[in-house]
Amino acid sequence: MSEYPLSAADLTLYDPFDGMRFSMHQCFLCGAPTTPPTDSVPVFAEWLMERYNLAVRPIKLLDMSIVNYQDLRIACCPRCRTQHVEPLEARVEEAANEGISGLRRLDEQSLFLWLGKMFYGILITELLNELDPLAKPQYPLAENAQMLRRFQAFFQPLQALRVPIEYDDFVPGSIFILEADPTEDHMAFEYDDDLSTIAFSIKLDNTVLMACLVDNGIIAQAMRRVYQDAHRPLHPVQVAEFKARVYYAAYLLNVIPDYFTRPVKPGDTEVVMDTFIDDITATVFNPWENSGYAQSLLEMWKRWQIPLEEIMRDPEQPLSYLYDADGQPQVMKHLAKEDGENKEGK
Ligand SMILES: [Zn+2]
Repeated sequence: MSEYPLSAADLTLYDPFDGMRFSMHQCFLCGAPTTPPTDSVPVFAEWLMERYNLAVRPIKLLDMSIVNYQDLRIACCPRCRTQHVEPLEARVEEAANEGISGLRRLDEQSLFLWLGKMFYGILITELLNELDPLAKPQYPLAENAQMLRRFQAFFQPLQALRVPIEYDDFVPGSIFILEADPTEDHMAFEYDDDLSTIAFSIKLDNTVLMACLVDNGIIAQAMRRVYQDAHRPLHPVQVAEFKARVYYAAYLLNVIPDYFTRPVKPGDTEVVMDTFIDDITATVFNPWENSGYAQSLLEMWKRWQIPLEEIMRDPEQPLSYLYDADGQPQVMKHLAKEDGENKEGK
């Protein structure tokens, strides 16, 4: 995308976690000095805020403070903004204009970077809030070594947003694209995240994107069949169930990938990144527990107020709207509220 020839410096990676260099005075992508508020980019792109009227919509942060979407901005130097962030946003906007088929055609790296940029923007906002001496965060992110290691790992492949990086034979995250059936779908835009597990979801009209951004595709592997079965218009309650599975899997994930870059030689135009997961000393997933999964369902199904006792009526098999009692994919147009056994679909 750059009209400038690439120089060796362009292939230099940056690690803001080294010394915790997070501020509004340093570009989030390259670390160059920036002047706030001019040198910044919105976490949720202008086109998103315009399309879904998000600008003055409130969003609650971990310290319980409330900001508007338009106030969520991260430091970004003019070069990274014009050459890397804005071109990516333009590419995704164009794809999104075509709806779900356009987004499905988008290459996986662009999707990863786009979701990753928003997730990282929220994460930095939360970290900066914590560094504020007046803030007393309930769950300090920066004090949890395991979590920090995960954030740091996630940032390695995310640097492909600025530096041309080829992931050698791996995908850094698991990304799912689901289609919401319009019949009982009333939310044009939705977004949520789980910072500790690096799970993220955003809904654009009938397209719902979900991801765990630091699992090297392990969750997508594990959920391959469920994802195949979900390749059809889904009732929002089914989309929520799928999300509960993704988020719970991200919570159970017990490994953090390591990333390595190969030495750059003169004349190279990209960095090759390898990955390694130490799955010999650790189990990849902690054991699945229905009671834990049920909590995830309870949370994702809040809008429909489905009580825990209904979810856990059969403790061996928590309530499902994606599958019927025989384990077959269930077609659903309406959610019959009184009838928890709505197994027939309509
Ligand atoms: Zn920069």
